[in-house]
Amino acid sequence: MKKLILSTDNKNKVLEIKEALEGLPLEVYAKSDFIDKEIQVDEKYDSLEENARLKAESLREYAPECFILADDTGLFIHALKGEPGVHSARYAGNHDDEANIKKVLKNLKNQEDRSAYFKTVFVLINPKGQEEIIEGVCEGTILKEIQGPKTFGYDPIFQPDGKNISFAEMTIHGKNEISHRGRALVGLREYFKKVLR
Ligand code: IMP
Repeated sequence: MKKLILSTDNKNKVLEIKEALEGLPLEVYAKSDFIDKEIQVDEKYDSLEENARLKAESLREYAPECFILADDTGLFIHALKGEPGVHSARYAGNHDDEANIKKVLKNLKNQEDRSAYFKTVFVLINPKGQEEIIEGVCEGTILKEIQGPKTFGYDPIFQPDGKNISFAEMTIHGKNEISHRGRALVGLREYFKKVLR
């Protein structure tokens, strides 16, 4: 059976990816379940794709006969010239969701255009070393104040197009159906359905 090694140990992400690929002839491993070494990567680039590629490439020598998958996600706000973008996790300094939200709301004060989108990029490397890029985008609007519970990241201030509630007010299933990650995960399943035939 083919193996897929993820560049993450984040339990939610690992579970999500395993669920998305369920039923396919593929064994999915979190990074440290397969690689017995601490690998740190400095996400130094200005694009999601380059940062994801860096993470994927850093694992190749430890998993040469496997598929490798790395992801990167950002929130891009038009009126802020694409900020926070690749810096979404640390926009206000230190992985602090509440401070990140505050900074976005402050920077968008008095801005009429509150349109934004989330984007997820998967960089997948196959056992031959060939790369596949899979993306998922979700367009929406930045709300004027927090709406709903503080679930994750910018969820309480992001309202996806076509809905009148924030991501934070949606069920996990409802969010996954339209979210950037949900869409990228559908693309990932399609890819493996094709190549594992
Ligand atoms: P990551 O690349 O998946 O770690 O995402 C980077 C950052 O983007 C996270 O730390 C969050 O701040 C933000 N983010 C990513 N996905 C979402 C989402 O679905 N909702 C809200 N914020 C998100």
